[in-house]
Amino acid sequence: MANGHGIGLHGGCGTQAQALMSEAEWAEARTHLADALRAGWRILAGGGRALDAVEAAIVVMEDSVYFNAGYGAALNASGAHELEASIMDGATLACGAVAGTKRVKNPIRAARAVMEKSPSVMMATSTADAFAERCGLDMVANSYFTTERRVKALAALRQRAKDGNAAAATEADKHGTVGAVACDANGHLAAGTSTGGFNNKPVGRIGDSPIIGAGTYARDGVCAISGTGQGELFIRHAAAYDVAARMMYARQSLTQATDALVHETFGALKVGAGVVAIDGTGRVVAPYNTLGMYRGWIMADGRIVVATHAEEHVMGTVG
Ligand code: ASP
Repeated sequence: MANGHGIGLHGGCGTQAQALMSEAEWAEARTHLADALRAGWRILAGGGRALDAVEAAIVVMEDSVYFNAGYGAALNASGAHELEASIMDGATLACGAVAGTKRVKNPIRAARAVMEKSPSVMMATSTADAFAERCGLDMVANSYFTTERRVKALAALRQRAKDGNAAAATEADKHGTVGAVACDANGHLAAGTSTGGFNNKPVGRIGDSPIIGAGTYARDGVCAISGTGQGELFIRHAAAYDVAARMMYARQSLTQATDALVHETFGALKVGAGVVAIDGTGRVVAPYNTLGMYRGWIMADGRIVVATHAEEHVMGTVG
């Protein structure tokens, strides 16, 4: 990566079949991924912190209709949004997370506030919202997050449940998440993840995204990683930490460690999963085992690469 810094992101492994969205919509989703990369890159290129780059990239994806985080997030079984996010600083292992928030516009900012403005690592539900409000973050009505796409998805899943074929729902029907990882010019790593969980999730359910070591992990000199896929499995396998442990103790490379998690561990269990991860040299990997995964990174020569399915698209270069 240029100047040793780098950034990568994912927008969830619950990507739908290409035929289910128009080419104009796919193109717009790709543009939003590129915008998120640029937002993070601007900070890194200006000598800023990996942590700030991760937050900036995730805010762009939270504000996009295409991803299951912030605006456009999944609806739970009661037709409401309960959002989750976490962020971790690889330099200090400081971290923060929120779960079950309903009113904070950008949950990743609330996670960052928990990390920096409270003695806690995680806050949940209305307490987390109230804390975010006290910190001066933008607050919205829960209905702000609702989009037609998610209303339709919830109705389709409820129908499937009634018909007794809920198991046949596609990855895209079910879930999605956004995440970003970055390495700054000082070699510091950071990771963050934000999600609405999955459509029709039980009220009060908390997944892996706000759990440090499951959906998010960062440690300088090792890796920063954010996951997407069925959260319960990511928690059971301590997935994000498992990748770091493979690198630290088994001396696996970033590619070996992430492939082992996604293709061996989750592949064998037939669990749809994906991750984006970066090492201390700024190298990004983004393996997944589903039909597609929204993802992107910036190459050493400055090319911005994004993808939703197998094909990769170059979206210009950074200066
Ligand atoms: N990991 C998320 C969750 O279980 C969902 C996803 O990434 O698709 O809440």
